[in-house]
Amino acid sequence: MLLDQHNRTVNYLRLSVTDKCNLRCFYCMPEEGIPFCKKEDELSFEEMLRICRILTKQGVNKIRITGGEPFVRKDLLYFLRQLTELENPPELSITTNATLLEPHIEELKNLGITSINVSLDTLDEARFFAITRRDAFQQVNRNLNILLREGFDVKVNCVVMENKNIEDIILLSELTKTAPVSVRFLEEMPFNAQTGEQTELQWNYLHILEHLEAHYGPLVKLKDPQHSTSLNYSIPGYKGRIGIIPSFSRTFCGTCNRIRLSANGDFRTCLYGAAALNLRDEIRQPVTDGQLLQRIQNALSHKPANGFMAETQNTQHIKDSMAYLGG
Ligand code: SAM
Ligand code: SF4
Repeated sequence: MLLDQHNRTVNYLRLSVTDKCNLRCFYCMPEEGIPFCKKEDELSFEEMLRICRILTKQGVNKIRITGGEPFVRKDLLYFLRQLTELENPPELSITTNATLLEPHIEELKNLGITSINVSLDTLDEARFFAITRRDAFQQVNRNLNILLREGFDVKVNCVVMENKNIEDIILLSELTKTAPVSVRFLEEMPFNAQTGEQTELQWNYLHILEHLEAHYGPLVKLKDPQHSTSLNYSIPGYKGRIGIIPSFSRTFCGTCNRIRLSANGDFRTCLYGAAALNLRDEIRQPVTDGQLLQRIQNALSHKPANGFMAETQNTQHIKDSMAYLGG
């Protein structure tokens, strides 16, 4: 079992398989992209698999595949299959912009990967283009509908942004009327690969909740799972659920069970902290699994209590893109 210095069990890895992406969401990266990782600096799938094997033997039983856009990476499905064949297979889930999903849906089902988070900030085609700088709304919408029809456990993630998509809070919430989908609203974070500065957050979780309740009346509070980052609700009479994620307010750090591995091997014990070590550099030396595990445990013995403490110790990466950090 992996424990951090605050005696929290760590059982959840967020694994970024690439920092590359076919969209350019303005809150994540600039139009020209970010200085993407060179092929030789990217962990190979064999290297990722070795790290996952070590971690799953230590009780990591959930792995979320993210990026960048995971489906941009060639042979992703081959890698996912290998993860399902590990001695201690983890529960797998994927966060995706859903642009490239369609050809893979059947195989995902065959692999038993049914938990998919679709990032979709708006149901309006023009606003989608303004936010992502790409003309892909129809594809995403089609793929979302296929996932729902095929019975996947779908969560729709929407970053709430003043002057961009406030009308979508209600439009997206309406998806929960007839579909058993979870629509989750996220506070915007400063990881946009640009200034690293964030003017005061206009739409924090309380404001989002107020906005929803002003429209629907009181929402029904649901029980939040133990390590949940979202505060969960439902709209009376609706089938699905609403989640609000205080990603910037960080009210959930006390029960954090997460670690992150970036495509270039950077290992983070907190999203707001600097990389604790680079596992690519370690793994490309002659090193045993036991030694790698020791380095990981050592990193965990310094895991900050919360994202605010991590941030004060970190002078640099707040300028990084979520695509590199692995959202
Ligand atoms: N490309 C995939 C996608 O968009 O779902 C996976 C990677 S993306 C970095 C993961 C999640 O991070 C998305 O839901 C995205 O909305 C969120 N994200 C990116 N930048 C963010 C920011 N500055 N603030 C809040 N959420 C952000
Ligand atoms: Fe790409 Fe996801 Fe970042 Fe948008 S949020 S640019 S889809 S990595």
